[in-house]
Amino acid sequence: MTRILPIDGDSLEMAKSIIDGGGAVAFPTETVYGLGANAFSTSAVDNIFRIKGRPNDNPLIVHVTEDFDLFKLVDYVPEYAKVLAKKFLPGPLTMVYPSKGKVSPSVSCGLDTLAVRIPSHIGAQKFLKAMGVPIAAPSANISKHVSPTSAEHVFYDLNGKIDLILDGGCCQGGIESTVLDCTGEYPVILRSGLVTREMIEEVTGRCGVYAYKEGAPARSPGMKYKHYSPKCKTSLFAPDKIKEAVKEYDGAIAEGIKALIMCDGKTAQSLRRDFGGRELKLIILGNTPEEMAANLYAKLREAELTADYLITIAPDNRDGVMAGVMNRLSKACR
Ligand code: AMP
Ligand code: MG
Repeated sequence: MTRILPIDGDSLEMAKSIIDGGGAVAFPTETVYGLGANAFSTSAVDNIFRIKGRPNDNPLIVHVTEDFDLFKLVDYVPEYAKVLAKKFLPGPLTMVYPSKGKVSPSVSCGLDTLAVRIPSHIGAQKFLKAMGVPIAAPSANISKHVSPTSAEHVFYDLNGKIDLILDGGCCQGGIESTVLDCTGEYPVILRSGLVTREMIEEVTGRCGVYAYKEGAPARSPGMKYKHYSPKCKTSLFAPDKIKEAVKEYDGAIAEGIKALIMCDGKTAQSLRRDFGGRELKLIILGNTPEEMAANLYAKLREAELTADYLITIAPDNRDGVMAGVMNRLSKACR
Protein backbone atom coordinates (compact mmCIF):
# COMPACT_ATOMS: atom_id res chain seq x y z
CA MET A 1 0.00 0.00 0.00
CA THR A 2 1.28 3.42 -0.94
CA ARG A 3 1.08 6.20 1.66
CA ILE A 4 0.03 9.76 0.84
CA LEU A 5 1.45 12.23 3.37
CA PRO A 6 1.58 16.02 3.65
CA ILE A 7 5.08 17.47 3.39
CA ASP A 8 6.53 17.89 6.88
CA GLY A 9 9.55 16.85 8.92
CA ASP A 10 8.32 13.27 9.38
CA SER A 11 7.38 12.60 5.77
CA LEU A 12 10.62 14.16 4.52
CA GLU A 13 12.58 11.91 6.88
CA MET A 14 10.71 8.92 5.50
CA ALA A 15 11.38 10.16 1.94
CA LYS A 16 15.08 10.49 2.73
CA SER A 17 15.37 6.94 3.96
CA ILE A 18 13.61 5.69 0.80
CA ILE A 19 15.85 7.78 -1.50
CA ASP A 20 18.99 6.79 0.45
CA GLY A 21 17.94 3.16 0.11
CA GLY A 22 17.74 3.45 -3.70
CA GLY A 23 13.95 3.79 -3.86
CA ALA A 24 11.60 6.27 -5.52
CA VAL A 25 9.31 8.92 -4.01
CA ALA A 26 6.54 10.89 -5.73
CA PHE A 27 6.59 14.64 -5.09
CA PRO A 28 4.66 17.71 -6.27
CA THR A 29 6.02 20.38 -8.58
CA GLU A 30 4.41 23.45 -10.15
CA THR A 31 3.94 21.48 -13.42
CA VAL A 32 2.97 17.85 -12.64
CA TYR A 33 3.91 15.30 -9.93
CA GLY A 34 7.35 13.74 -10.35
CA LEU A 35 8.68 10.30 -9.43
CA GLY A 36 12.14 10.97 -8.02
CA ALA A 37 15.23 8.90 -7.28
CA ASN A 38 18.90 9.59 -6.52
CA ALA A 39 20.41 10.71 -9.85
CA PHE A 40 23.83 9.29 -8.90
CA SER A 41 22.53 5.75 -8.39
CA THR A 42 22.04 3.63 -11.52
CA SER A 43 19.93 1.03 -9.72
CA ALA A 44 17.69 3.77 -8.27
CA VAL A 45 17.26 5.42 -11.68
CA ASP A 46 16.68 2.09 -13.45
CA ASN A 47 14.01 1.37 -10.84
CA ILE A 48 12.05 4.43 -12.03
CA PHE A 49 11.99 3.11 -15.60
CA ARG A 50 10.77 -0.24 -14.25
CA ILE A 51 8.01 1.24 -12.07
CA LYS A 52 6.68 3.38 -14.92
CA GLY A 53 7.24 0.90 -17.73
CA ARG A 54 9.12 3.75 -19.42
CA PRO A 55 11.06 3.01 -22.63
CA ASN A 56 14.74 2.91 -21.73
CA ASP A 57 15.76 5.46 -24.34
CA ASN A 58 13.56 8.25 -22.94
CA PRO A 59 15.86 10.34 -20.70
CA LEU A 60 14.96 11.87 -17.34
CA ILE A 61 15.24 15.42 -16.02
CA VAL A 62 17.47 16.06 -13.01
CA HIS A 63 15.85 18.29 -10.36
CA VAL A 64 18.03 20.46 -8.13
CA THR A 65 17.65 23.19 -5.50
CA GLU A 66 17.91 26.86 -6.28
CA ASP A 67 21.40 27.15 -4.78
CA PHE A 68 22.81 24.04 -6.49
CA ASP A 69 26.13 24.56 -8.32
CA LEU A 70 25.22 23.58 -11.89
CA PHE A 71 28.86 23.12 -12.84
CA LYS A 72 29.02 20.01 -10.67
CA LEU A 73 26.91 18.32 -13.34
CA VAL A 74 27.34 20.20 -16.61
CA ASP A 75 30.34 21.20 -18.68
CA TYR A 76 29.27 24.40 -20.29
CA VAL A 77 26.53 27.01 -19.91
CA PRO A 78 26.14 29.50 -22.77
CA GLU A 79 25.58 33.20 -21.97
CA TYR A 80 21.97 33.16 -23.22
CA ALA A 81 21.19 30.26 -20.85
CA LYS A 82 22.51 32.25 -17.89
CA VAL A 83 20.20 35.13 -18.79
CA LEU A 84 17.23 32.79 -19.24
CA ALA A 85 17.96 31.07 -15.94
CA LYS A 86 18.04 34.41 -14.17
CA LYS A 87 14.69 35.37 -15.66
CA PHE A 88 12.73 32.09 -15.44
CA LEU A 89 14.27 29.95 -12.68
CA PRO A 90 13.11 28.55 -10.38
CA GLY A 91 10.18 27.66 -12.62
CA PRO A 92 8.76 25.40 -15.32
CA LEU A 93 11.78 25.53 -17.63
CA THR A 94 14.14 22.56 -18.13
CA MET A 95 17.48 23.35 -19.74
CA VAL A 96 19.58 20.77 -21.60
CA TYR A 97 23.38 21.18 -21.33
CA PRO A 98 26.51 19.21 -22.27
CA SER A 99 26.84 16.70 -19.42
CA LYS A 100 29.87 16.19 -17.23
CA GLY A 101 28.85 12.55 -16.92
CA LYS A 102 28.67 12.73 -13.13
CA VAL A 103 25.13 11.38 -12.70
CA SER A 104 24.20 7.81 -13.62
CA PRO A 105 24.32 7.22 -17.40
CA SER A 106 20.76 5.85 -17.07
CA VAL A 107 19.47 9.40 -16.42
CA SER A 108 20.25 10.59 -19.96
CA CYS A 109 19.95 7.11 -21.47
CA GLY A 110 23.50 7.32 -22.76
CA LEU A 111 23.19 10.80 -24.33
CA ASP A 112 26.08 13.21 -23.66
CA THR A 113 23.66 15.92 -22.55
CA LEU A 114 21.80 16.46 -19.27
CA ALA A 115 18.40 18.05 -18.69
CA VAL A 116 18.28 20.12 -15.48
CA ARG A 117 15.34 21.80 -13.78
CA ILE A 118 14.84 23.92 -10.65
CA PRO A 119 11.18 23.64 -9.65
CA SER A 120 9.59 26.63 -7.92
CA HIS A 121 7.00 24.62 -5.94
CA ILE A 122 7.74 25.08 -2.23
CA GLY A 123 7.08 21.40 -1.51
CA ALA A 124 9.46 20.37 -4.30
CA GLN A 125 12.14 22.69 -2.96
CA LYS A 126 11.71 21.28 0.57
CA PHE A 127 11.92 17.75 -0.81
CA LEU A 128 15.06 18.45 -2.87
CA LYS A 129 16.77 20.24 0.01
CA ALA A 130 16.02 17.38 2.42
CA MET A 131 17.26 14.69 -0.01
CA GLY A 132 20.60 16.48 -0.48
CA VAL A 133 21.27 14.89 -3.89
CA PRO A 134 20.12 15.76 -7.43
CA ILE A 135 16.86 13.92 -8.06
CA ALA A 136 16.17 12.32 -11.43
CA ALA A 137 12.45 12.43 -12.05
CA PRO A 138 9.95 11.86 -14.86
CA SER A 139 6.23 12.42 -14.35
CA ALA A 140 4.75 10.08 -11.72
CA ASN A 141 2.40 8.15 -13.99
CA ILE A 142 2.47 4.79 -15.73
CA SER A 143 4.25 5.37 -19.04
CA LYS A 144 1.98 6.66 -21.84
CA HIS A 145 -0.90 7.39 -19.44
CA VAL A 146 -2.14 10.89 -18.57
CA SER A 147 0.32 12.83 -16.38
CA PRO A 148 -0.65 13.37 -12.70
CA THR A 149 -1.51 16.78 -11.29
CA SER A 150 -2.64 15.60 -7.84
CA ALA A 151 -1.50 13.06 -5.25
CA GLU A 152 -4.69 11.09 -6.00
CA HIS A 153 -3.71 10.84 -9.68
CA VAL A 154 -0.32 9.41 -8.66
CA PHE A 155 -2.04 6.96 -6.30
CA TYR A 156 -4.36 5.80 -9.09
CA ASP A 157 -1.37 4.92 -11.29
CA LEU A 158 1.26 3.81 -8.79
CA ASN A 159 -0.55 2.39 -5.74
CA GLY A 160 1.43 -0.63 -4.54
CA LYS A 161 4.41 0.24 -6.74
CA ILE A 162 5.96 2.92 -4.51
CA ASP A 163 5.95 3.52 -0.75
CA LEU A 164 5.35 7.26 -0.52
CA ILE A 165 3.58 10.12 -2.26
CA LEU A 166 4.33 13.56 -0.83
CA ASP A 167 1.11 15.54 -1.15
CA GLY A 168 1.48 19.18 -2.15
CA GLY A 169 -2.06 19.69 -3.45
CA CYS A 170 -3.03 20.24 -7.08
CA CYS A 171 -0.31 21.42 -9.48
CA GLN A 172 -0.94 25.01 -10.55
CA GLY A 173 0.82 24.82 -13.95
CA GLY A 174 -0.65 21.56 -15.14
CA ILE A 175 1.55 20.69 -18.12
CA GLU A 176 5.17 19.53 -18.04
CA SER A 177 8.07 21.97 -18.15
CA THR A 178 9.31 23.56 -21.34
CA VAL A 179 12.41 21.57 -22.42
CA LEU A 180 15.00 23.86 -23.95
CA ASP A 181 18.14 22.67 -25.71
CA CYS A 182 20.97 24.97 -24.57
CA THR A 183 23.82 23.13 -26.29
CA GLY A 184 23.85 25.26 -29.46
CA GLU A 185 24.37 28.89 -30.49
CA TYR A 186 20.76 29.75 -29.68
CA PRO A 187 18.09 27.95 -27.63
CA VAL A 188 15.76 25.42 -29.22
CA ILE A 189 12.48 24.29 -27.65
CA LEU A 190 12.30 20.49 -27.59
CA ARG A 191 9.00 20.40 -25.71
CA SER A 192 6.70 23.38 -25.32
CA GLY A 193 5.35 24.39 -21.93
CA LEU A 194 4.45 27.34 -19.73
CA VAL A 195 7.65 29.21 -20.52
CA THR A 196 6.76 29.96 -24.12
CA ARG A 197 8.75 30.59 -27.31
CA GLU A 198 7.53 34.19 -27.21
CA MET A 199 8.83 34.63 -23.64
CA ILE A 200 12.22 33.12 -24.52
CA GLU A 201 12.56 35.16 -27.73
CA GLU A 202 11.93 38.31 -25.79
CA VAL A 203 15.08 37.56 -23.79
CA THR A 204 17.35 35.93 -26.38
CA GLY A 205 16.06 37.40 -29.65
CA ARG A 206 16.09 33.97 -31.23
CA CYS A 207 14.52 30.66 -30.25
CA GLY A 208 14.08 27.58 -32.42
CA VAL A 209 11.27 25.06 -32.07
CA TYR A 210 12.18 21.46 -32.77
CA ALA A 211 9.57 19.43 -34.62
CA TYR A 212 9.95 15.67 -34.43
CA LYS A 213 9.44 13.85 -37.71
CA GLU A 214 8.20 10.27 -37.54
CA GLY A 215 11.00 7.84 -38.34
CA ALA A 216 13.88 10.33 -37.93
CA PRO A 217 16.26 10.13 -34.95
CA ALA A 218 14.69 12.17 -32.15
CA ARG A 219 16.59 15.08 -30.65
CA SER A 220 14.40 14.69 -27.58
CA PRO A 221 13.58 10.99 -27.42
CA GLY A 222 10.37 11.53 -25.45
CA MET A 223 8.84 13.10 -28.57
CA LYS A 224 8.47 9.86 -30.45
CA TYR A 225 6.31 8.03 -27.90
CA LYS A 226 2.59 7.83 -27.39
CA HIS A 227 1.81 10.06 -24.44
CA TYR A 228 -0.77 11.45 -22.06
CA SER A 229 -3.43 8.99 -23.27
CA PRO A 230 -6.70 8.42 -21.44
CA LYS A 231 -7.92 4.80 -21.33
CA CYS A 232 -10.92 5.43 -23.57
CA LYS A 233 -11.31 5.78 -27.32
CA THR A 234 -10.45 9.32 -28.45
CA SER A 235 -10.68 11.54 -31.48
CA LEU A 236 -9.60 15.11 -32.16
CA PHE A 237 -11.46 17.57 -34.38
CA ALA A 238 -10.06 20.83 -35.75
CA PRO A 239 -11.72 24.02 -34.41
CA ASP A 240 -13.64 24.53 -37.68
CA LYS A 241 -15.09 21.00 -37.58
CA ILE A 242 -17.62 21.47 -34.77
CA LYS A 243 -20.52 20.10 -36.84
CA GLU A 244 -18.55 16.98 -37.72
CA ALA A 245 -17.63 16.46 -34.06
CA VAL A 246 -21.29 16.67 -33.03
CA LYS A 247 -22.20 14.22 -35.79
CA GLU A 248 -19.58 11.83 -34.44
CA TYR A 249 -21.01 12.30 -30.94
CA ASP A 250 -24.57 11.63 -32.16
CA GLY A 251 -23.43 8.51 -34.01
CA ALA A 252 -21.74 7.18 -30.89
CA ILE A 253 -24.75 7.90 -28.65
CA ALA A 254 -27.05 6.22 -31.20
CA GLU A 255 -24.91 3.09 -30.87
CA GLY A 256 -25.21 3.21 -27.08
CA ILE A 257 -21.61 4.36 -26.55
CA LYS A 258 -20.97 6.68 -23.58
CA ALA A 259 -19.50 9.67 -25.39
CA LEU A 260 -18.29 13.08 -24.21
CA ILE A 261 -17.22 16.22 -26.01
CA MET A 262 -14.20 18.05 -24.58
CA CYS A 263 -13.55 21.64 -25.62
CA ASP A 264 -12.64 25.12 -24.42
CA GLY A 265 -15.16 27.58 -22.97
CA LYS A 266 -15.60 29.52 -26.21
CA THR A 267 -16.36 26.38 -28.23
CA ALA A 268 -18.78 25.24 -25.51
CA GLN A 269 -20.66 28.54 -25.95
CA SER A 270 -21.02 28.07 -29.69
CA LEU A 271 -22.07 24.44 -29.17
CA ARG A 272 -24.78 25.60 -26.77
CA ARG A 273 -25.83 28.35 -29.19
CA ASP A 274 -25.94 26.19 -32.33
CA PHE A 275 -27.13 22.97 -30.76
CA GLY A 276 -29.01 24.55 -27.84
CA GLY A 277 -32.07 22.31 -28.11
CA ARG A 278 -29.94 19.23 -27.46
CA GLU A 279 -28.29 17.79 -24.43
CA LEU A 280 -24.61 17.38 -25.17
CA LYS A 281 -22.36 15.93 -22.50
CA LEU A 282 -19.47 18.40 -22.31
CA ILE A 283 -16.15 18.59 -20.48
CA ILE A 284 -14.91 22.17 -20.54
CA LEU A 285 -11.14 22.65 -20.34
CA GLY A 286 -11.31 26.33 -19.38
CA ASN A 287 -11.40 29.81 -20.88
CA THR A 288 -7.77 30.94 -20.93
CA PRO A 289 -4.70 29.01 -22.12
CA GLU A 290 -3.39 28.94 -18.53
CA GLU A 291 -6.68 27.55 -17.23
CA MET A 292 -6.69 24.90 -19.95
CA ALA A 293 -3.12 23.88 -19.10
CA ALA A 294 -3.96 23.65 -15.40
CA ASN A 295 -7.11 21.56 -16.02
CA LEU A 296 -6.02 19.40 -18.96
CA TYR A 297 -4.78 16.24 -17.22
CA ALA A 298 -7.49 16.23 -14.53
CA LYS A 299 -10.12 16.56 -17.27
CA LEU A 300 -8.55 13.74 -19.34
CA ARG A 301 -8.57 11.54 -16.24
CA GLU A 302 -12.19 12.52 -15.51
CA ALA A 303 -13.08 11.62 -19.10
CA GLU A 304 -11.54 8.15 -18.99
CA LEU A 305 -13.44 7.34 -15.79
CA THR A 306 -16.81 8.51 -17.08
CA ALA A 307 -16.79 7.88 -20.83
CA ASP A 308 -15.99 5.21 -23.40
CA TYR A 309 -15.36 7.74 -26.13
CA LEU A 310 -13.84 11.20 -25.77
CA ILE A 311 -14.42 13.51 -28.72
CA THR A 312 -12.21 16.58 -28.45
CA ILE A 313 -12.62 19.82 -30.37
CA ALA A 314 -9.29 21.69 -30.46
CA PRO A 315 -9.28 25.38 -29.50
CA ASP A 316 -8.38 27.72 -32.37
CA ASN A 317 -5.40 29.45 -30.71
CA ARG A 318 -1.88 27.96 -31.11
CA ASP A 319 0.32 30.70 -29.66
CA GLY A 320 2.03 31.07 -26.30
CA VAL A 321 0.87 28.58 -23.68
CA MET A 322 -1.60 27.08 -26.18
CA ALA A 323 1.35 25.59 -28.09
CA GLY A 324 2.03 23.43 -25.02
CA VAL A 325 -1.63 22.60 -24.44
CA MET A 326 -2.13 21.61 -28.08
CA ASN A 327 1.06 19.52 -28.07
CA ARG A 328 -0.36 17.44 -25.17
CA LEU A 329 -3.94 17.39 -26.46
CA SER A 330 -2.96 16.20 -29.94
CA LYS A 331 -0.87 13.38 -28.45
CA ALA A 332 -3.53 12.41 -25.91
CA CYS A 333 -6.37 12.33 -28.42
CA ARG A 334 -4.78 11.21 -31.64
P1 AMP B 1 9.01 13.56 -18.47
O1 AMP B 1 9.87 13.75 -17.28
O2 AMP B 1 8.24 12.29 -18.48
O3 AMP B 1 8.19 14.77 -18.67
O4 AMP B 1 10.00 13.48 -19.70
C1 AMP B 1 11.19 14.22 -19.77
C2 AMP B 1 11.35 14.86 -21.13
O5 AMP B 1 12.62 15.51 -21.17
C3 AMP B 1 11.29 13.88 -22.28
O6 AMP B 1 10.53 14.44 -23.33
C4 AMP B 1 12.75 13.75 -22.69
O7 AMP B 1 12.88 13.46 -24.06
C5 AMP B 1 13.31 15.12 -22.33
N1 AMP B 1 14.75 15.05 -22.02
C6 AMP B 1 15.31 14.63 -20.87
N2 AMP B 1 16.66 14.64 -20.95
C7 AMP B 1 16.97 15.08 -22.18
C8 AMP B 1 18.19 15.30 -22.87
N3 AMP B 1 19.35 15.07 -22.30
N4 AMP B 1 18.12 15.76 -24.14
C9 AMP B 1 16.91 15.99 -24.72
N5 AMP B 1 15.72 15.80 -24.12
C10 AMP B 1 15.73 15.34 -22.86
MG1 MG C 1 6.03 12.08 -18.61
